[in-house]
Order: sequence, then structure tokens, then C-alpha cells
Amino acid sequence: MYYYGGLDMGYMLIALIATLLGALTQGYIQKVYAKWSTVDASFNGTGAEVAKNMLLNAGVTNVGFAQIDGTLTDHYDPRDNTLHLSKDNCFGGSVASVAVACHEAGHAIQHAVGYSPVAIRTALVPVVNIAQSAWSLLFFGGIILGMTGLIRIAVIAFGASVLFQLVTLPVEFDASRRAIAYLAESGQEIDKQGANEVLTAAALTYVAAALTSVIQLLYLMSRTRRR
Ligand SMILES: [Zn+2]
Repeated sequence: MYYYGGLDMGYMLIALIATLLGALTQGYIQKVYAKWSTVDASFNGTGAEVAKNMLLNAGVTNVGFAQIDGTLTDHYDPRDNTLHLSKDNCFGGSVASVAVACHEAGHAIQHAVGYSPVAIRTALVPVVNIAQSAWSLLFFGGIILGMTGLIRIAVIAFGASVLFQLVTLPVEFDASRRAIAYLAESGQEIDKQGANEVLTAAALTYVAAALTSVIQLLYLMSRTRRR
């Protein structure tokens, strides 16, 4: 095994693949988003207005709306029960804006109806916050000090953050499914088609991140066993 200050070749190769895959999926979402940003949705309303109607349609009335800086920075925050939408998606009426705003509305509906993967994900947050910052320190500390027990704890901590990424997948897919179902029943075919493309591209970024961390975990586990 070739060590470079605690890093070995296999680990560096996985890190490189993860970076490349991340860059590719980010590039793809940017491209698809740009394409559908130029196509008007059939709603004659902004992303925020369509999202609000989607929430009303689901009987959810207490969700706040706020504008945030940046592009594709949109998210739903359960702490203030608010959709934080980027300027384009808040005030624009393109297929891309409506798709993203409705996806975020999907998260607000999940919260309102008590969708169980969200509850699991929320419960994991404090564990993952500690695990994410501690695992690499424990892992490389364990290698340098030659302490297998420390490495094992590091791998378990990393496993917790992988589990979090895996639980994120059904949450993201479900929010998109809710958005597309709403757009399909209340909009035109073009809205559904565009939303499908935009939200699939967005989902790929989560899939790529989860996939690379599963590979990373398997690698770390195999290395721990070899030691
Ligand atoms: Zn989402």
C-alpha cells in the first residue's frame, strides 16, 4: 500500500471519481435548467404563485415564502416552514422555475403530512453533523497512530452520513413526484415534460453523491478488514 501523508492511492482514486461525477451531474443540471428557463410554463404565474396553488390544492395553507440569493439555491426549511426560492424561481414563470418551486412545495407537503422518510432524516441530522466533521480526523488519526479501534469508529461514523444520503433519496424523489403529479393535472404537457427533465437532472446530483459515498464506505470497510 502506498501512503501519502495518510492517504493511499485507492482512496485518492475514489475521491477523484467522486469529484468528476459531482462536476458532471452539476454541469448537467445547469444545462437542463438553462434550457427550460427559456420556455414559459402554461400557468401565467410565477414559480412562487404556482407553488402556492399546489400547496392550497394539497390543503396546506401555513407555509411562508422568502426570496434568497443565488441560482438553484432553492430549498424548503422545516424550521421556519418556509419555501426559500431563488429570485428566478420566485418571480419567473418558466417551466424550470415552476418545476423547482413545486419540488420545494413537495417538501413542505411531506412535512405537513408527516412523510416518514423525512422524520428519519430529521432524526439523523444531529448524529450526521458530528459524524461528518469527525470521521476523517478519526480515520487518518487511527492510521497514523496505528489504532484499529479508532479506524472502526471512523468507518461507523462515515456509515451514518452515508445512511443520511441514502434516506435523502426517497425524500427527493417523492418531492419531485408530487410536483410532477400536480403539474401534469393542472398544466400542459410541456410543463410535465420540462419538469421531468429538470427534476430528474436535479435528482441525479443526489444519486451521484450517494453512490460515491457508498463506494467510499465499502472501500473504507475493506481496508479496515485488511488491517
Ligand atoms: Zn429537494
